[in-house]
Amino acid sequence: MKTEPSTKQKVILYARTATTEQDTASQIDQGTKYAEEQGYDLVAVFSDRGFSGSAMDRPGIQQMLTFIKEHPKENFAIILDNPSILSRNPDIHIHAQKKLEFFSQLYQDASKNEELTTEQELVEFNGSMVIKGWPEKLKAAQEITTCRIDGVEYERIPYGQEEGYKSAGSRPCHDCSALKGQLHVPGCDMERCPVCKDQAAFCDCDIAL
Ligand SMILES: [Zn+2]
Ligand SMILES: [Zn+2]
Repeated sequence: MKTEPSTKQKVILYARTATTEQDTASQIDQGTKYAEEQGYDLVAVFSDRGFSGSAMDRPGIQQMLTFIKEHPKENFAIILDNPSILSRNPDIHIHAQKKLEFFSQLYQDASKNEELTTEQELVEFNGSMVIKGWPEKLKAAQEITTCRIDGVEYERIPYGQEEGYKSAGSRPCHDCSALKGQLHVPGCDMERCPVCKDQAAFCDCDIAL
């Protein structure tokens, strides 16, 4: 008897932790279980330990992109604990051009959930609740005043100075809690690209901080 060719969805699992103390094992376990439950064919696992979501020079993610390129005919989907695991910068989602699926029950708000702690301590900040440590991130973001696009340095656009977005600034940025005149936390979807003036997180310019 002839066996039917597999029509199972082929998936790649990618895991990342922000610190080297955290282990990617639980994400890999959960993801493997998820793939099984969904009836997927898990073809590869890539992981990075101790890398932030904004860093792109992660060996695991580079290996994954290479693997995808080497199999141009395969319609892989990528499974991840939550969107921020792949990147704080959604550009990479577009580069990968793959369907993404998230298996985390912890997932609430990727942009504020980077460290993936199970217990998130919230603090009041600029009138809204943010995870502990976020005010420090926003403070650190103020030091990053420029970005580079194609080797040219540009001033980042502070919150409230977006062209054609005059109402911005009457309240803190909904995504990163920046106040009017402050720079957004890198990866914030409200930040505008200094070149094309589109959303910096989604535009085609190759923005490096
Ligand atoms: Zn923002
Ligand atoms: Zn742009």
